[in-house]
Amino acid sequence: MAAQETVDHKYVYDFSEGNKDLKDLLGGKGANLAEMTNLGLPVPPGFTITTEACQAYLATGREPDGLAGQIEAHLESLERAMGKRLGDPQDPLLVSVRSGAKFSMPGMMETVLNVGLNDQSVVGLSAQAGQNDRFAWDSYRRLIQMFGKTVCEVPGEEFEHALDEIKNAKGTHNDLDLDADDLRGLVDAYKKIFLKHTGREFPQQPREQLDLAIRAVFESWNAERAVLYRRQERIPADLGTAVNVVTMVFGNLGPDSGTGVAFTRDPASGAQGIYGDYLANAQGEDVVAGIRNTVPLNELERLDKKSYDELLGYMARLEEHYRDLCDIEFTIERGKLWMLQTRVGKRTAAAAFVIAGQLVDEGLIGLDEALHRVNGAQLAQLMFPRFQLDHEFEAVAKGIGASPGAASGTVVFTSARAVELAAEGKSVILVRRETNPDDLNGMIAAKGILTSRGGKTSHAAVVARGMGKTCVSGADEIEVNVPAKRFVVAGQTVNEGDVVSIDGTTGKVYLGEVPVMPSEVVQYFEGSLDAEHVDNALVRAVHRIMTHADGRRRLAVRTNADTGADAARARRFGAEGIGLCRTEHMFLGERRELVERLILARDADGREAALEALLPLQRADFVEIFREMDGLPVTVRLIDPPLHEFLPPLEQLAVNVAVAQERGEDVAKEEALLAAVRRMHEENPMLGLRGVRLGLVIPGLFAMQVRAIAEAAVACAREGRVAKPEIMVPLVGAVQELETVRAEAERIIAEVVGDSGVEVLIGTMIEVPRAALTAGQIAEAAEFFSFGTNDLTQMGWGFSRDDVEGAFFWRYLELGIFGISPFESIDRDGVGRLVRIASEEGRAARPGLKLGVCGEHGGDPDSVHFFHEVGLDYVSCSPFRVPVARLEAGRAVVETGGSDSR
Ligand code: PEP
Ligand code: MG
Repeated sequence: MAAQETVDHKYVYDFSEGNKDLKDLLGGKGANLAEMTNLGLPVPPGFTITTEACQAYLATGREPDGLAGQIEAHLESLERAMGKRLGDPQDPLLVSVRSGAKFSMPGMMETVLNVGLNDQSVVGLSAQAGQNDRFAWDSYRRLIQMFGKTVCEVPGEEFEHALDEIKNAKGTHNDLDLDADDLRGLVDAYKKIFLKHTGREFPQQPREQLDLAIRAVFESWNAERAVLYRRQERIPADLGTAVNVVTMVFGNLGPDSGTGVAFTRDPASGAQGIYGDYLANAQGEDVVAGIRNTVPLNELERLDKKSYDELLGYMARLEEHYRDLCDIEFTIERGKLWMLQTRVGKRTAAAAFVIAGQLVDEGLIGLDEALHRVNGAQLAQLMFPRFQLDHEFEAVAKGIGASPGAASGTVVFTSARAVELAAEGKSVILVRRETNPDDLNGMIAAKGILTSRGGKTSHAAVVARGMGKTCVSGADEIEVNVPAKRFVVAGQTVNEGDVVSIDGTTGKVYLGEVPVMPSEVVQYFEGSLDAEHVDNALVRAVHRIMTHADGRRRLAVRTNADTGADAARARRFGAEGIGLCRTEHMFLGERRELVERLILARDADGREAALEALLPLQRADFVEIFREMDGLPVTVRLIDPPLHEFLPPLEQLAVNVAVAQERGEDVAKEEALLAAVRRMHEENPMLGLRGVRLGLVIPGLFAMQVRAIAEAAVACAREGRVAKPEIMVPLVGAVQELETVRAEAERIIAEVVGDSGVEVLIGTMIEVPRAALTAGQIAEAAEFFSFGTNDLTQMGWGFSRDDVEGAFFWRYLELGIFGISPFESIDRDGVGRLVRIASEEGRAARPGLKLGVCGEHGGDPDSVHFFHEVGLDYVSCSPFRVPVARLEAGRAVVETGGSDSR
């Protein structure tokens, strides 16, 4: 916002004027200092300069009118309250100048301590500290160092170098061995460095020091590392930082002083109790610098029982007041406790669930609030096995964390070898440049998949996620040589049979075995840990919050599954149906040859023979799935492969034929195949003969599938089960395509189901932009829509889903063109708009039209909220993400303030 530059505009707030809800204006630190002040906690007096002042400064390059006067007035009242004047030669008031944005950006922006010290007041400070010269000169040298570096861009190394020189001359590594004279000498050296780099003396005027420090904090908002951090964390660039001017208190005045951090619960596990660290005779920055070792906080009870008890009392009050885990920074100055900061503390995923559950038990929050305080990303983290990285393992490469988890195993380079070794009971990691549908068996057999190419929606990534299998894709530092059965990374050669470990969350690759632990949360979802009886705080908390989410959500959650085993697992994870059964995966392996025959058949007889052989195989596939999903809807998508996936690669075939001809072998059959492959070769298979187009071109293919689905449903009905098939036509762009398929399908269904009571719905994917834009027409021929947001993103942006993430998205992310890959989280403005238009126009044309989504976005937390807002009926995602989608669908209701419990 453009701050008003009027004299009246309030830019400065005393701590007593703010509160914790003013984070936009006062930043997190300032708002919480104000809150603690108003609670009556001992906060060193001070004031906060608003983010609006920062915004105005950054927009115009100068302080807004009125700011200087307001700072003066607040400084005066601070001086009155403390009975000291800033930089007074006898008894100086010293202040710290600290940044504090709305969102915490640890270490990204600047702080200057001890503002107000100069050649005179350093003497006064010493006198006030009981003739403690060492302390006074140490404080002064710290000011020059921080001020020089932060405000005047003097290279920090120069100061460090000067400090090292003095220590070396004394033969010590410890700052504490330097005495007052050493430090006085250091101040002289620092001043020279300052003069050399700035062309001026170190400023002796306290007010000038203050103004320059404030300006430097404003400017630190746009420091390169802060800009990068904001992009990473998706913090808006225009918020600006507030500046806190706080009376200095000193933890380095002797053994009865010190500094520490405290947590009201364990931020790692969520366990109740007092956690933290304390360092006697030190300032906060010493703790960070790790100059001496801290002691556990409860040691303070022995060192200073009065301060310890007082601190515990404040911690209890803060936790009750904030109704959450708080973290605290404090300082003790000669036995007097000061609270320097508090905020709702960061925590691990496990602690987030455990604490939310505890706070409900303690009556501090309700279940809606508990649901709001956890999220799907945390739940997902808890569902993957983890590496026990207790001693340092060094990664040799880093790719894209394509499917989370941790896996160690023997390296193999082919699907066949993976299957062989897995059959011997070995854990294997399948390493490929990239995978294709032929690698499926190897991927199933492997513990993890590592590829040197491809992004988050590459074949390897999507299939691995579907299986809940760890995958690192696009690790391009790895040079894979499949024929030689080895890869080279960082100058080391890894051969088949060697062991590697991959972390699908971080994308890191390690040589050797890193130990792995299973997830208790998955054991709970799988049903092998009973939340009611197990003594595990995390599992109990997850159970409780999930149960509440299920009660609150409006969206149903289905799964993408194409095997009985996947369907069964997803059902245990809470799936309420299948939203996408991709049938092309059923045409691989030994059936591939039948498909090849079908595609290449020259006449109807050849085609029909292939189809006839495929029919019973397909029927059995569907029976297996319908059995597992007894009573729940199953959306079966008719075959949608890019054609090239079923045909032998053109170049390889051409070489084989040429070699065979050379040898004088009979190659008539191969030549025919080559001619057919040439005929069907496509430059852009993703935009070619796939989906409904293939069904319309190859007579009988869709009909065979429709028949298999209907027959399988009838067979299940005869077993006393309830099959609810929904036949889905892929890649429709025009209603005429759908009508053609529909007419034939209805005929077959009527013929097969007879009076069995089986009902079959027919609908379509909306994954081509034209379909979204003509949804009103398409709805006339569809009982349901399912948004294929993978293709909709591919075609909406014109981004090849197999290539772009690994190829150039890094640059787009760096430039902030988007904050996250649109293949991962739905692009609300563009692709999302297509979803919205199609939903509205589809429902206008056919009230009650069932709407779902089955692209990868169906399991992405932020996208689930979007689909809730748009009013879809369900999301469908890979089995492993079903719990995440359930949780987020519940959170979406709570966060939109809805009371629409199902
Ligand atoms: C989609 O395009 O979003 C979709 C679900 O289909 P597929 O990923 O199989 O192309
Ligand atoms: Mg698709």
